[in-house]
Amino acid sequence: MEENIDEKRQIWLTRVEPFDGESISHFLGRFRREKGNKFSAPSGLGDVAGLGVVLARWEKFYFNPFPTHQELDALATVVELDAERLRQMLPPEGVGMKHSPIRLCGACYAQSVCHKIEWQFKKTVGCDRHQLRLLSKCPVCEKPFPIPALWMDGQCQRCFTSFAEMAEYQKPY
Ligand SMILES: [Zn+2]
Ligand SMILES: [Zn+2]
Repeated sequence: MEENIDEKRQIWLTRVEPFDGESISHFLGRFRREKGNKFSAPSGLGDVAGLGVVLARWEKFYFNPFPTHQELDALATVVELDAERLRQMLPPEGVGMKHSPIRLCGACYAQSVCHKIEWQFKKTVGCDRHQLRLLSKCPVCEKPFPIPALWMDGQCQRCFTSFAEMAEYQKPY
């Protein structure tokens, strides 16, 4: 089994470097779509990692039951990261998650094109870095943000306002 995964990885898996603070949903989406990887659905990657459908839940920020060491190790092998690095893409123990709405700090996104895990903590009110409230939908057309695994071009899918531009609409907090 172990050998089998190694063989496959050598043939067709491309490593993807995580961003600081990146959420597991955003990372998994990028990894699946990376040139050479091309998993259209989370289940494809889940099969290779021996994790089945659990990745689809993680992409939606459902961590109940919480990912086990074994699961993180299995995924770490496939994505060629340390399990500890994957652990940083999850909430700290005991921190509750908001599954929806998906939230955004456009000012952060302008600096680092990723969705940050801390934006989905229940306790998070705004962005500490920019002292701005988070957006919970497109401020121009009000379309909700899709799950970060589906963020491909950094813009609203309906009105095409870029996530970075949305910083102008964030209120101070
Ligand atoms: Zn920010
Ligand atoms: Zn929009």
